[in-house]
Amino acid sequence: MSPNTYLDYDTCAACGGRCCKRHAGALFPSDIKGQMYDGLVKLLSTGMYQIDWYDKNPMMSFEELRGYTITLQTGELKRVESRAPKAMAYYIRPAHVETRGAVFDHSGGKTGTCVFWDAEKGCTSPSKPAQCRVLKPNPEDTTKCHYPNPIFGYLGSNRALGLMWWQHRETIRRAGRHFE
Ligand code: SF4
Ligand code: SF4
Repeated sequence: MSPNTYLDYDTCAACGGRCCKRHAGALFPSDIKGQMYDGLVKLLSTGMYQIDWYDKNPMMSFEELRGYTITLQTGELKRVESRAPKAMAYYIRPAHVETRGAVFDHSGGKTGTCVFWDAEKGCTSPSKPAQCRVLKPNPEDTTKCHYPNPIFGYLGSNRALGLMWWQHRETIRRAGRHFE
């Protein structure tokens, strides 16, 4: 298992899945085995996954990149406002109970409960998405579980996911259309 995988079952069991009841953790492209299109169709055909998206171009401008570099070097947050145009930066996550059945589901600022969340058993996913594996539980305060990779904190989760999946966005769209 990767050294960047944080599975702290005791802390998560005691917490009761605060994060899982707020928003499902997303997959990273490395979670898809084999051909991207075939892997996505296979996942979506289970009805347990949905396509979500960040609604602007997630690529960083030079000014943003500079701000991020300063943040990393000094620890002082130098966030630069993105002026990116509208876009559909798709990514994949487990479905939300509230919208299950829809293949395309833009969570935006809405909360949703992950379909793999079970009040008694906890996470029932056969393979935890990468975002769930890298979220670092905080035994002291579960409102402060965090992502050790600073890019999530700097860009925000949705944008970081849109960036990560950017090169596959057209493949995701095609895979989703397969079910319409
Ligand atoms: S990662 Fe944090 S918020 Fe999520 S279930 Fe574990 S302790 Fe709770
Ligand atoms: S896959 Fe598991 S750990 Fe991830 S959000 Fe869903 S229930 Fe929580």
